[in-house]
Amino acid sequence: MSAKIIDGKDLAGRMKEKMKMEVQSLQSLGIKPGLAVIIVGDNPASRSYVTMKERDCAEIGMRSFEYAMPKDTKEIDLLELIDQLNEDTQVHGILVQLPLPGHMNEARVLERIFPSKDADAFHPQSAGQLFTGHPTFLPCTPAGIMEMLKDEGISIEGKECVVVGRSNIVGKPMAVLLLQANGTVTICHSKTQNLQEVCKRADILVAAIGRANMIDSSYVKKGAVVIDVGMNRDENGKMVGDVHFDSVNQVASYLTPVPGGVGPMTRAMLLENTLKAARQKVV
Ligand code: NDP
Repeated sequence: MSAKIIDGKDLAGRMKEKMKMEVQSLQSLGIKPGLAVIIVGDNPASRSYVTMKERDCAEIGMRSFEYAMPKDTKEIDLLELIDQLNEDTQVHGILVQLPLPGHMNEARVLERIFPSKDADAFHPQSAGQLFTGHPTFLPCTPAGIMEMLKDEGISIEGKECVVVGRSNIVGKPMAVLLLQANGTVTICHSKTQNLQEVCKRADILVAAIGRANMIDSSYVKKGAVVIDVGMNRDENGKMVGDVHFDSVNQVASYLTPVPGGVGPMTRAMLLENTLKAARQKVV
């Protein structure tokens, strides 16, 4: 038997329909939600993510403002732009596309964004609020995964949840959200011993590693829910996840595809965060 494929594109589409209506109702109150997207340099992957994010905004009637800066931009100039956008009343969310060029201090740049406009939720204040259980904005990828689990009616309480990856943007916040939903959570990383065994305990397995097709059926318990965050290129240049789809499809109960799984949901949650920021302007 094969797994049920969780269609992130479809769920993101349904969410966008609702958000479109909310944009209209905010507009009737005189608020036109807007997202500022800053891209530094000419990384083709970053460029295509930015284009997709702007397209998403247009789809729901939200404004987007793009700021493309050359890769040799001085950090101070980027910080000044962020300062301006922090004060700009047309801008409700600010996003700095990562990675930044090596000469910039990523943490310093992200901290410059007002927490009230922190659309990606990468600011330490957003991270702290999430950690203490009182988030304003949720990081988009883990939040999108929680929406997918909810939409499928998959309960987390009491389940063994294993997250492979401990980055600040995916692995760690994912683990916190699963913990807050009463899962029993294990976080794995490159120094984890017996990774296969640990993963095989999981009722819910989240792979956020960045290694094409690494997780095959030997890592997966029969009937587990498997969420694939990875976005990698295989040897033919095709986009693949961290999970070996055909192999895991034979043992999992639910599986997210790449593309069309977590990616569209990440983008939907960015819109959701921007709308939330705009909503706070309603008096
Ligand atoms: P990072 O490189 O920041 O983190 C990768 C994590 O995987 C690290 O914690 C690392 O461990 C761990 N890891 C690496 N190799 C192994 C291994 N062999 N065994 C166990 N753990 C390992 O990546 P991100 O978290 O930013 O992203 C992860 C993946 O998700 C990437 O493919 C990225 O492109 C994708 N992504 C997809 C998104 C989407 O919307 N679909 C959004 C964001 C990311 P250690 O800490 O020890 O180095």
